[in-house]
Amino acid sequence: MTSTAPTTHGPAPGRALSETGDPLLLTPGPLTTSRSVKEAMLHDWGSRDAGFIALNREVMQRLPEVVNAAASHVAVPMQGSGTFAVEAMLTTFVPPGGEVLVLINGAYGHRARRILEIAGRRSIVHETAEDTPPDLAAVERILAATPSITHVFAVHCETTSGILNPVGAIGALAARYGKRFLVDAMSAFGALPLDANAIHADAIAASSNKGIEGIPGLGFVIGRKTALAAAAGNATTLVLDLHDQWTVLEKTGQYRFTPPIHVIVAFHQALREFFAEGGQPGRGARYRQNCQVLVEGMRALGFRTLLPDALQAPIIVTFHMPPAPGFEFQRFYDGLKERGFVIYPGKLTVAPSFRIGCIGRLDPADMRAALGAVREVLASMQIAVPLAV
Ligand SMILES: *Cc1c(COP(=O)(O)O)cnc(C)c1O
Repeated sequence: MTSTAPTTHGPAPGRALSETGDPLLLTPGPLTTSRSVKEAMLHDWGSRDAGFIALNREVMQRLPEVVNAAASHVAVPMQGSGTFAVEAMLTTFVPPGGEVLVLINGAYGHRARRILEIAGRRSIVHETAEDTPPDLAAVERILAATPSITHVFAVHCETTSGILNPVGAIGALAARYGKRFLVDAMSAFGALPLDANAIHADAIAASSNKGIEGIPGLGFVIGRKTALAAAAGNATTLVLDLHDQWTVLEKTGQYRFTPPIHVIVAFHQALREFFAEGGQPGRGARYRQNCQVLVEGMRALGFRTLLPDALQAPIIVTFHMPPAPGFEFQRFYDGLKERGFVIYPGKLTVAPSFRIGCIGRLDPADMRAALGAVREVLASMQIAVPLAV
């Protein structure tokens, strides 16, 4: 190995770049991360290394603070992507005789239902369209009519559309009917205010590579200590047993199976940077500005958002595919990539769409640069702006 070229797959010189010369990821995770987060990985550690064990412990101690739950809840890590944490949460907290009311308005709600089905746990679904929050009156009717329900599951920000679900109101309803509340907070964790006790959550699942701006490879569940202690023996698999993971980590400081050490060390650095930015209020304010610049700029060009502003979480924005003749998504995507911006295809069933994320190591100037690139790419496709509606 000889040179240290700044980038191997970056765009042409003069285009937008991250601190390490890569295209900016306007996606819902993995995200653009800081140089210092990546540099934290330039070492080797043994998994029994005292330094690593102390660093992991610090990460797990600080995570519950993000949801104001340091006294009541503990963070239990789970190797793998965010879905591993969601599956670990559902299969550890829901006992064999349990039944879950699953609120669905996107792909992640469907995924939770599928996890329960495979694990042999009963579920009831309340589904609304991808641009529609759950109908709380209907949820209440189901809870009142179905005493066998033990748990309610909801997704905080459904990343499929970017919609913000009312987890506070859902948790309050669950509590009123004596049901336990489990939340997939993945893309909202650290970005939006969330108080585990105020929403009556027994468990909240998230991952290293979203609003905390670490690299992918570690999920975690912030679980109420009493509920976790009562979950012994519920698990349907060895690896995803959060109760076992928790008790072994408490006792020995060590993971049961090889931890993704570099991911955890990078996550430790990312969490430091998160708290240095002011924690959730600081990080959330930057994401909100990013989102506002993006939405205002795209609307000025004639694009339409799927969601009204009141339902839009400042995490990822879904835009309708413009009806303009000559607009081709693949050319649009490639043109933006050449200019240093990676966007995301749509995942909706209700309408053809694409998504642009506003989380990660990005600021409003990056969003303005992305809007400039959108204008250029439209011009290259001979499409006049503002788009005709
Ligand atoms: C990202 C995300 C997940 C986890 O996805 P992975 O690909 O497994 O990391 C789960 N739920 C939501 C709402 C998400 O945004």
